[in-house]
Amino acid sequence: MPTIVTFAEVRDGKVRRPSLEAVSEARRLAGPLGATVQSVLIGQGVAPLAAEVASYGADRVHVFDDAELGSYATESFARALAQVITQEKPSVVLVPYTAMGKDVAPRVAARVGAGLVSDVVKLEVKDGKLEARRPVYAGKALATVRWEGEPQMATLRPNVFAAGAADAARKAEVRKETVDTSARARVTAVHATVSGKLELTEAQIVVSGGRGLKGPENFHLVESLAGAMGAAVGASRAVVDAGWVDHQYQVGQTGKTVSPTLYVACGISGAIQHLAGMSSSKYIVAINRDADAPIFKVANYGVVGDLFELLPKLTEAAKQYFGGKR
Ligand SMILES: Cc1cc2nc3c(=O)[nH]c(=O)nc-3n(C[C@H](O)[C@H](O)[C@H](O)COP(=O)(O)OP(=O)(O)OC[C@H]3O[C@@H](n4cnc5c(N)ncnc54)[C@H](O)[C@@H]3O)c2cc1C
Repeated sequence: MPTIVTFAEVRDGKVRRPSLEAVSEARRLAGPLGATVQSVLIGQGVAPLAAEVASYGADRVHVFDDAELGSYATESFARALAQVITQEKPSVVLVPYTAMGKDVAPRVAARVGAGLVSDVVKLEVKDGKLEARRPVYAGKALATVRWEGEPQMATLRPNVFAAGAADAARKAEVRKETVDTSARARVTAVHATVSGKLELTEAQIVVSGGRGLKGPENFHLVESLAGAMGAAVGASRAVVDAGWVDHQYQVGQTGKTVSPTLYVACGISGAIQHLAGMSSSKYIVAINRDADAPIFKVANYGVVGDLFELLPKLTEAAKQYFGGKR
């Protein structure tokens, strides 16, 4: 029977949402491919998380639970994943397109001789084979890609594929695995800069600010709206280059790619390099005083107006609306 293998990434003791999206997508593809779904959990103290991965659709979970795997190390994680692929000979391998996924997937593909299609936004089964869609030319076009041979390996853009409903009654066979944990480079400490803040790439709502805010002293307007909506904060490169906020907030071609349900662009013109990082958002709302700003071409809803007037009002309205819901 064909097999689909997914990588279930763990951070701070939790399975990350893009990994649950990957398992759910594997479950969806398992029907037309007539396949079983297997997931790989790697880390320290990760064994109890197998039940959650199973509840989203895995039939078997390979668990590498080792103190030496407590911090991410490219070599040992790639070795573990490649070991499962060599053993199970899957026809499909799905990895989330997260920082870790982007790092580990090419290594694994090289080790197992797989073709890798990255940043995939759609998968379909055609004649028993997989067909992928991925953005190219900074999101200006979508390429359709097919694989030669197996395994067909893909990294999936977060927030694009739906994480299905968890079914707690769903059980998986759990296999304890071991791997050589030696690595030539190791993480010795992690210095987190945004503890407690919402991860931009996983947020369901993102509120971003651009040069229209005029100066760093006004960026709090965006942060307040984001806070009222339970959203993550993003920024254009102009704002980052000017030193108003750190690069970790940058959305776009040379920043992060986000696909939230709602993206609110405040005082952002909508340059092609910015659109590359957010145009796959489900709903885009733009606030800009220039009716001809290119951002309005991709926006589902647009407000032509002054953000200094609009943002405080919107924040108040959001507080009332979301305050009652959270
Ligand atoms: C190789 C390369 C890579 C790049 N990568 C990125 C990237 O990753 N991300 C990115 O964002 N950019 C990137 N850029 C830069 C990009 O081309 C733009 O310069 C940048 O996105 C512009 O940022 P902005 O929209 O904030 O500023 P601007 O283009 O200056 O737009 C500001 C907007 O604010 C509006 N505005 C002004 N005042 C108000 C007001 N009071 N109320 C409402 N609206 C107002 C204006 O009408 C204008 O549309 C890249 C460029 C290059 C060459």
